[in-house]
Amino acid sequence: MAAITFDSVTKQFSDKNETVTAVDDLDLEIEDGDFVVLVGPSGCGKTTTLRCIAGLESVTDGEIRLDGEGMTDKLPENRNVSMVFQSYALYPHMTVRENMSFGLKYATDHSKEEIEEKIQDAVGMMGIDDLLDRHPADLSGGQQQRVALGRAIVRNPEAFLMDEPLSNLDAKLRAEMRTYLQQLQEDLGVTTVYVTHDQTEAMTMGDKIAILDDGELQQYGTPAECYHQPQNTFVAEFLGEPSINLIDMTLQDATISTSGFEHEFSEPIGDGTTNSDVIVGVRPEELSITDEPRADVSSFDGTVTVTEHLGKESNVYVETEGGATELTVVVDGEPTVDDEDEVTVEVPNDAIHVFDAKTGEVIRSAEASGDVDGLAGAQAADSAP
Ligand code: ADP
Ligand code: MG
Repeated sequence: MAAITFDSVTKQFSDKNETVTAVDDLDLEIEDGDFVVLVGPSGCGKTTTLRCIAGLESVTDGEIRLDGEGMTDKLPENRNVSMVFQSYALYPHMTVRENMSFGLKYATDHSKEEIEEKIQDAVGMMGIDDLLDRHPADLSGGQQQRVALGRAIVRNPEAFLMDEPLSNLDAKLRAEMRTYLQQLQEDLGVTTVYVTHDQTEAMTMGDKIAILDDGELQQYGTPAECYHQPQNTFVAEFLGEPSINLIDMTLQDATISTSGFEHEFSEPIGDGTTNSDVIVGVRPEELSITDEPRADVSSFDGTVTVTEHLGKESNVYVETEGGATELTVVVDGEPTVDDEDEVTVEVPNDAIHVFDAKTGEVIRSAEASGDVDGLAGAQAADSAP
């Protein structure tokens, strides 16, 4: 088991016409035993980052260290990390047992008995004991994925590297495997770097998440930190479903305003420039719909355009007066309003994020920090800027 350190790592791909910077000056500290999720949109450099750890790509600049030891000159086979791919990458002509033992037979000096013992341990853990003599073609997608994981486990690696390992599974199985993988990782305690484009997977699985965009690290922290204290509009918008409300406003001293809305913080925010353009962010679940507006809470007046009942909660879409802004509000249970209703949407002071409109960087973080999937809000407060 190992800590993984990225020290100003850059990876470029060049051909005669252009240079693509897939990973851009990445600094990242992954602690021993942590489950870290690399998340971001397609093409942001997640796979390349993993392949650099595995040694399948050489870095253009900077260094990756495993437990302090530089990896740059080490061949992939000497890095003792196991990679699990989205495509499973099982050998079709081999049985499950052969698939799992293949790497051990050729890359280690384990005896036949030792190998069989490792396989038995792994398949026992994965609940696939009865599949050992089958070929991949005779397995379901979920079973193939377990075999691929089992093959990674028997190698007893310092770290697991997983590249979207669940994305070929249907939604129900994916949810099941998510829990299963987390449990497995906890039991084994092996440092895991897990890649996904799916923010729900990142939020629910990671001890920490690293959000990437265009090769650049946007934020690194616990899911609760990143959700409640997003450092920029990209992170704010990437995490959370439905998406955070982002509203163009003007900031002057302590007051943010737009058509039909004004809110004054207790003290000036930002660098004191007058009349700067800002983007105000409020998560849909922080907004509330009321027919008795409170004098001390800032609010928008608007008209309900659409309601969506999802069971446990509902999304209510409100167009503010004059059509300036479309707000998404999440309410518990069934919606208590209908299309065309005139409503007031309250915006609690402690739920307001303010970002610089030019750079997208945070100027003021919201204080609200309710739990995200059981993660204590207190964690989030630790990293408040
Ligand atoms: P992700 O896994 O986040 O979708 P990738 O790491 O696969 O992203 O790709 C990041 C960027 O690097 C993309 O622009 C991609 O086109 C480019 N890229 C990846 N691999 C290669 C390669 N072998 N040659 C040239 N460009 C590549
Ligand atoms: Mg990828």
